[in-house]
Amino acid sequence: MTDVRDITIIGSGPAGFTAAIYSGRANLKPLMIEGQQPGGQLTITSDVENYPGFPEGVLGPDLMASMRAQAERFGTKIEFGMVTEVDFSSRPFKIHTEFGDFLSRSVIVSTGASARLLGLEVEKELMATGGGVSACATCDGAFFPDKELVVVGGGDSAMEEANYLTRFASKVTIFHRRDYFRASEIMLERAKANPKIEFRVPRVVEDILKGEDGKIRAVVARNPDTGETEEFACQGLFLAIGHTPNSKVFQGQLDLDEDGYILVHDGTRTSVEGVFAAGDVCDKTYRQAITAAGMGCMAAIDCERWLESQGD
Ligand code: NAP
Repeated sequence: MTDVRDITIIGSGPAGFTAAIYSGRANLKPLMIEGQQPGGQLTITSDVENYPGFPEGVLGPDLMASMRAQAERFGTKIEFGMVTEVDFSSRPFKIHTEFGDFLSRSVIVSTGASARLLGLEVEKELMATGGGVSACATCDGAFFPDKELVVVGGGDSAMEEANYLTRFASKVTIFHRRDYFRASEIMLERAKANPKIEFRVPRVVEDILKGEDGKIRAVVARNPDTGETEEFACQGLFLAIGHTPNSKVFQGQLDLDEDGYILVHDGTRTSVEGVFAAGDVCDKTYRQAITAAGMGCMAAIDCERWLESQGD
């Protein structure tokens, strides 16, 4: 732990890589700690149709591989591993990872967000054992040819995942806890127009039942309007109920809002001078790859100017 880096970027999604490209080009030789899902959420997405510059769309993993190559071209050193602890109380900042510790004059946090779960006991077990519960249609959809699936959620992700799953499944039923959808009109209409998709709303999924083979056989859902509960047979369950910011390791070090998002002010400044944040870990409003990339750029510029102001 002898080297003191100018800038360390924690997280390797669009925000992190854009920050790395900008600070690399500013000759700051950034260090990136890439986290447990290198490339971030886009590596588990299929077609990205709304990232400017790709009129035919681009595959999420391809987009992230290009960003990574671009960041490396300008001198970013990428370290694998998770940050387990940080100490931002004194300078240089201390960053502990599974595989080593680092010192840095400045830090950009771009750790993104993770899929939210229903909180049912059996859910994690079935996810871990290939029992038919997943939070990523792109990753696991192909395992369910001609199966009847349930998607939980009422946002754009739920609509997108349900549509995607009809490539494989014989039928997809969307369970949503309200009869009003957060999803954008275009995504909702696309799902409604898909003959393989049905809707069951309002329904609250209260339990997941597994068969003797250890795999999901049904969900138990309650209609909150009538109080009636039904058992709905399915062979797979996909959760699309939003995300939680990956900010746990910064609790007590940086100011977070009540949902755990890092609070930023004046661009990308956090509550600690010299620590900046960008992307989904601090943005609960837009949460897009392009807005994360834009914030990554802002964080790199804010950070570079801050280092200059310190005489570093
Ligand atoms: P979201 O917009 O936050 O929607 C989450 C959905 O899950 C909501 O319908 C919510 O219900 C429901 N939900 C939350 N917690 C739940 C729980 N414990 N039990 C049951 N249901 C629960 O999240 P998202 O769909 O992942 O989208 C996130 C952002 O990414 C959005 O800005 C979205 O537009 C964007 N996105 C865009 C695209 C695209 O344009 N291609 C694709 C995917 C996502 P309530 O509505 O009742 O709160």
